This record gives sequence, structure tokens and C-alpha cells, in this order.
Amino acid sequence: MPDARINLLDLEPDTLHATLARHFAERGVKDFRVRQVARWIFEGDATSFEAMTDLPVEEREALGGAFDLYEPEPATVSVSEDATAKHLWRLHDGELVESVLIPAGDRLTLCISSQAGCAMACTFCATGWGGFRRHLTAGEIVSQFRGARRWAEANGYGPVTNVVYMGMGEPLANRDAVFASLTLLNRGYGFGARRITVSTVGVVPGIEQLAERPEQFGLALSLHSPEESLRRELIPLEKRWPIPVLMEALRKFDAAGGRRITFEYTMIDGVNDDLSLVPALAEMAHELHAFVNLIPFNPIPDRAWVASPMGRIRDFARGLEERGVDVFVREPRGRDIAAACGQLRTEKLGQALVQLGRDSR
Ligand code: SAH
Repeated sequence: MPDARINLLDLEPDTLHATLARHFAERGVKDFRVRQVARWIFEGDATSFEAMTDLPVEEREALGGAFDLYEPEPATVSVSEDATAKHLWRLHDGELVESVLIPAGDRLTLCISSQAGCAMACTFCATGWGGFRRHLTAGEIVSQFRGARRWAEANGYGPVTNVVYMGMGEPLANRDAVFASLTLLNRGYGFGARRITVSTVGVVPGIEQLAERPEQFGLALSLHSPEESLRRELIPLEKRWPIPVLMEALRKFDAAGGRRITFEYTMIDGVNDDLSLVPALAEMAHELHAFVNLIPFNPIPDRAWVASPMGRIRDFARGLEERGVDVFVREPRGRDIAAACGQLRTEKLGQALVQLGRDSR
């Protein structure tokens, strides 16, 4: 986005239609062109106005003069032994963010970033270490979907079936752009709300706003401890919105009657995996009808922590199940390419990869 032209990929469908309607009206062009352009963007995956071949050349040029279709560039793509594929995207100002494609059976989950860097500084997550760089725009968020989908289709991965906001950044700290991107994915690109999950470390006003939305977007809450004191050691935001306040917001989400909440719980050996924590966690999950997703900790640089042994994770899971809670143990994916949860840290890694000059297209 080198200049001040409006990036059409940032605009929610209604705004896009209104903006294009104004543009064509001023040019005295019939308004069926509006739908044509919107179709090129949402269904035709157009990356330029020149590609909109059923528009007269002068209209393509006029669109290019007035608007932009800016997408971040793919800087690199790394494919793991387990076929997990990580894209590194270079934004127009040089910032780098990542998205990850995770194939599993007949599912292809795409994990996208909502910010360059992250301000939350969770102690176990590498993304937070580089600090916060900036918010992504709606177009930059959606472009990860557009670009990763394009790559997936070209490389035999098939269609993306699920989108999770679990990449870099805290989505509910960038609500304007993230909420616009949700509308775009759902109403623009026709991606089902029930197949989209927003993951948050617990930004209460964001959870409340998400609860108020009529669509059934999923919510995952990064809990990591049912105890306030331990959670505070892991997640600085716990000081601002402690568990009881968080629970209040989650009750609203649950009562809105959309989707079941997921608790994410990263299992760190000797830190938050004591079986004595199970009853409190089960009680919270019970009250909210929540699933619990146990994630073996993924090692990050400069920290001695390791994942809980599998036996402990299984005992923890069994303890929850015995109390009537639905539990999944998440398999670590893409560790060899640093694509697993908490490992996305483009600052150094990204630069190293870019210097290698590996191309991805
Ligand atoms: N900011 C959002 C989304 C990004 S993190 C959030 O916190 O939910 C996506 C998930 O990965 C979160 O549940 C996070 O706690 C988890 N995670 C972070 N670092 C991890 C690590 N080193 N190992 C395993 N999971 C990790």
C-alpha cells in the first residue's frame, strides 16, 4: 500500500459496494459493474485490476487510479515433515507475519496472524518477546487467507476448511480490523462462521463484543491455569482481567447460544500440570459447557521449560473426563519449521529466511 489509495481488500462487503457504487456513478457507468468487481475480489481471487478481464480497459485503469488491491508478499514458505506449511508474509512497510496451514485428515486448518508482534508478553510464547510492532489491517488479515488458499490449491492441499486466529498477535486487541476481517471472510469470501475461531488471552470487552455478534464464530480462550495467582505468572493480562471477570464475559458468550467455548491449556512440565488443578479447571469448563484443548508446550528459545510428559497429559485429560468435561489433546505440528503454537517469531527467524532468499511462489 505505497500510497493513500483505498485498499479495496480492507473494505467490508457493504462498504465495498457503496464505495464502488459511488465510483462508477461518478463516471456515469452502470452499477452492474459494482457486483462484477466485488465478484472478482471475493470469488475470482483477483490480485490486480488488469485481471478483471470482463471490464473495459478504461474502467480497469480508472479503478487502478482510484483504488489499490494490496496484498502482502509471500517472503518464504516452509513445509514441515508433517506437511504443515508456514508462510512468511512481508507487509508493505517491511513488517513480517506468519500464517500456518495444518492438514489433518479431511481438514485443512489455516492459522492466521492479527498483529505484527504482540503486546501481551505471555511468558511461554515466543511471539511476545519481540514486543508489539503494529496492528494488521482487515485486508492484511484476509490476504493471509487469500494467499494461503491460493498456495494450498496450487500444491494439492485442497480447500481450507477452518480458519483460526491463533497466529501472531492478540486478535481482540485489534478489534476493528479483526471484526471487519470476520465479516469479510464470512460474508465476502463465503467462509462459514462456524468454521472460524477467534483465540484470545482474555480481552474482556472483545469477548463481550464477539458474544453480541449474530454470526456463530467460535471462541477459544487461552486459560493455562484455573488459578489466578499461577495464571498471573504466565499471562500479564490476568492482572487487568482476572479469572472471575473473564468468567463473567464468557458466561455472556455462552448464554448468547452460539458456539461452545474452547479452553486452551498449554501443558508445561512442573508449571501448570499438577493434577490438583484438575477440579477447578473442570468446574470452570462445566459451567461454560466448554471443551478443553490440552496443548503440549512447544519449546521456545532461551527458556528451559519443556512439555509435560505424555503420561501426565493423559492423566490430566482423564481427570477432566471423569468430571464430565470433553477434552482433546492437541498434537504438536510443524515443530521442525517453528510453526507450532507459540513459536511464531518472525523478527529474527524471518530476517534469516529472507536473507536466504528462498522464494515461495
Ligand atoms: N493471542 C491469542 C492467539 C495466539 S496464541 C491467544 O493467546 O489465544 C495461540 C495459542 O498458542 C494460545 O492458546 C497460546 O497460549 C498457545 N501458545 C503460546 N505459546 C505456546 C507454546 N510455547 N507452546 C504451546 N502453546 C503455546
